[in-house]
Amino acid sequence: MIDLALQAVVEMESPAGRVTQGDMRLHEYRKKRQFDSTPEPRGAPLSARKGDGSLIYVVQKHMSSHLHYDFRLEWRGVLLSWAVPKGPSLNPAVKRLAMQTEDHPVEYANFEGVIPAGQYGAGTVMLWDRGTWQPETADVDASLQKGEIKFTLHGSKLQGSWVLVRTRGFGSNAARSAWLLIKHRDPFASPRDVAQEEPRSVASQRLLAEIARDEGGDAERASLGDPGRVARRTTASPSASGRRARGRRSR
Ligand code: MN
Repeated sequence: MIDLALQAVVEMESPAGRVTQGDMRLHEYRKKRQFDSTPEPRGAPLSARKGDGSLIYVVQKHMSSHLHYDFRLEWRGVLLSWAVPKGPSLNPAVKRLAMQTEDHPVEYANFEGVIPAGQYGAGTVMLWDRGTWQPETADVDASLQKGEIKFTLHGSKLQGSWVLVRTRGFGSNAARSAWLLIKHRDPFASPRDVAQEEPRSVASQRLLAEIARDEGGDAERASLGDPGRVARRTTASPSASGRRARGRRSR
């Protein structure tokens, strides 16, 4: 009875209620970060956002405790977010693990730089790809709830039809659920390794090490996420990869 009454209140507040709902959805994002220490955006009140109706798509390559690609889709005033450890694959036969993470403010789609040591996600963030997306289903909320959302990407590196499918983590675990990111078969599918072949920022054309160097971060550590580093990291000792990183920079 009480739940039904609350539901009615939420529905009555719509569409203004979406502002409240969106700000509440950023609670976890804001709780994890100290905005006097990190350059990441706090996120303006959602009502302040002006939009032309198109939905933001962005992938941020993030070298923190480990390398991953943060895949984000704008929906209902926030960026739905998944961490993809190996990055997206253009090969429809390859399923890439995508762990859902906390919703981010839409302003995050412009963030490239260094998160200082000691802060949540400390490390280097690159704008790896960006553009817009379109759902391929009429009811996005129902698709998200069901755990299978099909969409078209209009990015610089990623295009065409994709799907995110939830494999585990339901209900109260929704923000920590495991999904698979899969390319659909279409003219944009390809066997080439887009993450390795197009490693630079879509915004600044910089590599991770160059972003770290420019923004006062740890360039040597950031270089572990640049081409030729990731594959070797598992076989080389930390000191050996450090020597290679120094040699590369002095070139
Ligand atoms: Mn991240």
